Amino acid sequence: MEFVFRLSDNASNDTPNPSTPITLQEDDASDAERRVQELVSQFVYLPDHKALVCQEHGYAIDGVKGHLQREHKNSESDVVNAVVQHYSSYEIARVDEIEPPEAGKTAIKCLRAPVRGFSCAYRIQQGRTDHSHDAERHETEPCGYISADRKNIGKHCRDSHRWRSTPADRKCWTEVYVQAFSVVRGHQKWFVVKTTD
Ligand SMILES: [Zn+2]
Ligand SMILES: [Zn+2]
Repeated sequence: MEFVFRLSDNASNDTPNPSTPITLQEDDASDAERRVQELVSQFVYLPDHKALVCQEHGYAIDGVKGHLQREHKNSESDVVNAVVQHYSSYEIARVDEIEPPEAGKTAIKCLRAPVRGFSCAYRIQQGRTDHSHDAERHETEPCGYISADRKNIGKHCRDSHRWRSTPADRKCWTEVYVQAFSVVRGHQKWFVVKTTD
């Protein structure tokens, strides 16, 4: 019997008369709404890349719920679900499938600041293995490999282009500034950006 009484009590609370609003409930609602807005304002959607970037962390995310729970330690499921709902109509690419911008564009503000990087200077001619990074530029394509790690770029040039450091050929890369949508080591897919200095 007790259970039945509680049920009917709840039912009457769930349907308050609109002309007599319950102040406490309204405060709760607007407070939650404010927290949802705060979280939403932390994200930036970049339609050109179908990327949703968390400004606080400076990288793109593909799971709003997981990111808020793990990285923002947010356990308010109503608030988290409302943010998820807010972005449910957005087309958000998987982070490893985001198309980077063309090389040399202005840095993207909401991502982590550009870092020093190394762009492979080799050019590749289809069907040829004697890659070169000097002289002839016609009928070749840039290799395109970029790393933020000086050791990696050397290893890449040795492994992929059979480069050997010699006094006449000390560098097979150009120094650039790079950004990435991901901060996961090995998954960064760096792209070259223009910097003001
Ligand atoms: Zn974040
Ligand atoms: Zn290369």
